[in-house]
Amino acid sequence: MKVSVDHERCYGSGDCAHRVPAVFVLAETGYGTVLPGGEDSGADPEVQEAADWCPSQAIVIADR
Ligand code: SF4
Repeated sequence: MKVSVDHERCYGSGDCAHRVPAVFVLAETGYGTVLPGGEDSGADPEVQEAADWCPSQAIVIADR
């Protein structure tokens, strides 16, 4: 499952990068971003938890 961050919703709280640093980073742009190679980690329970806890619901998990 694919994971991505909707930058129109993200406001850069950094929660995702704090919670799952292997997948998310707070980029210099100020947005949470999926690290290269992390795009297919949407099935990871920690990633799903990060999506659930994202304060702006900006983390998108999709089947493809
Ligand atoms: S937790 Fe959500 S709002 Fe915060 S940086 Fe990550 S994607 Fe953006």
